[in-house]
Amino acid sequence: MSELLSLTLADARDKLAAKEITATELTEAYIGAMAQTEGLNAFITETPDKARAMAKASDEKLAKGEGGAMEGLPIGMKDLFCTEGVQSTAGSHILEGFTPTYESTVSQNLWDAGAVMLGKTNMDEFAMGSANITSYYGSVQNPYTKQGDNDALVPGGSSGGSAAAVAARSAIAATGTDTGGSIRQPAAFAGLVGFKPTYGRCSRWGIVAFASSLDQAGPMTRTVRDSAIMLGAMAGFDPKDSTSVNLPVPDYEAALTGDIRGMKVGIPSEYRVDGMPEEIEALWKQGVEMMKDAGAEVVDIALPHTKYALPTYYIVAPAEASSNLARYDGVRYGLRVEGKDLNEMYENTRGQGFGAEVQRRVMIGTYVLSAGYYDAYYLKAQKVRTRIADDFRNAWNQCDVILTPTTPSAAFGMNDKLDDPIAMYLNDVFTVPASLAGLPGISVPAGVDKDGLPLGLQLIGPAFGEETVLRAAGVLESAAGFSAEPALMAK
Ligand code: GLN
Repeated sequence: MSELLSLTLADARDKLAAKEITATELTEAYIGAMAQTEGLNAFITETPDKARAMAKASDEKLAKGEGGAMEGLPIGMKDLFCTEGVQSTAGSHILEGFTPTYESTVSQNLWDAGAVMLGKTNMDEFAMGSANITSYYGSVQNPYTKQGDNDALVPGGSSGGSAAAVAARSAIAATGTDTGGSIRQPAAFAGLVGFKPTYGRCSRWGIVAFASSLDQAGPMTRTVRDSAIMLGAMAGFDPKDSTSVNLPVPDYEAALTGDIRGMKVGIPSEYRVDGMPEEIEALWKQGVEMMKDAGAEVVDIALPHTKYALPTYYIVAPAEASSNLARYDGVRYGLRVEGKDLNEMYENTRGQGFGAEVQRRVMIGTYVLSAGYYDAYYLKAQKVRTRIADDFRNAWNQCDVILTPTTPSAAFGMNDKLDDPIAMYLNDVFTVPASLAGLPGISVPAGVDKDGLPLGLQLIGPAFGEETVLRAAGVLESAAGFSAEPALMAK
């Protein structure tokens, strides 16, 4: 394998600063890696020319001893982020050919920090999904396969392209977005670290909206240290997003002290769901032991409204989506399919532009917001959401972080859950509660299942407790010593 592809983001940064490697060499290695792993379909748009130009600019800065926190590091950008002059599709036919005239704040922050753009990563259409099989641009394959079996597995979703690219070493790191689990779940399926920060930590400006009260951007990386570095570059107050919070961005890397002595780790019994495979339960127990061995104090906590989280999410998220997606009408963006009059043009455009899952969500969302059902569904869901947030608020009286599994299973087969939306929705059972409460949650690769597939453990922290979460995650990562490598990766 090319030495360059095996470097973590932190290692590459240090070698670039020490002038042991150049951004151009690193970027060329990754451009080659993208070509080698093309079969995974991790990218919708590749931007090698842009990458080369950005790398050259980085080398000029580095030569002068200048440069930002991500200078010269080649990353993938989820195709939900609007990128100026580069097609931004959100995985949808309706946005095919849409080339924004502006840059999202988070992507701009990353370019300002010196990151190099390799391309736009594939994703579930409008970030709706848990398997990256709803993209108009085709499904993404997980670079991991079961031992002794070549069947294609899903990389998780919706940030499946980002997960596949980072795991297959065709990007050193990538951005993701998480509405109900879309960073953490694919990270768990692909043996990566995925961090959804507190709602309001990263600006949503210029990110194609799915469910605005839940959407949050975050890093997908190979290590916890890389996650800390990249989050530092992504985060920050943005006056263009009224829900962005005006707090200074701490030095997240400095939070990785490796010392969690005295930290209180909460274990919620409500996450022991029916039918949970023994392997997941065993992994969770191992995680508890690892935290104890590192000097943490483990306490039982109660999150009694957990069982309502999934139904609440699948009311709130579609409701917001149905309203956000009303703007795709054939007039302003992307696809337009003519009809005999304006109404028929709307129908044709939306009927052909949106895939089945997006249409399902628009219908559910419109239904729960309609007169007569609003109080019964939407308003009720909002009340339950408050209860779920209250559960966490109470928990913080007893603990500093909460440890849970990230997903109820390892990556599944490309065709396994295709026809059953409810089975697909169950993937989010452990990730959705923190989303509804707006809390930071990280998935750390913690082990493998009987087939050698990665499994993740999740740490959830209080609002703006990113440093505590990262510190605990760093300790968990070292203790778990995850070392599996995917069958399909660039060499
Ligand atoms: N799988 C969840 C959904 O389909 C979460 C998606 C996400 O976080 N964007 O809604």
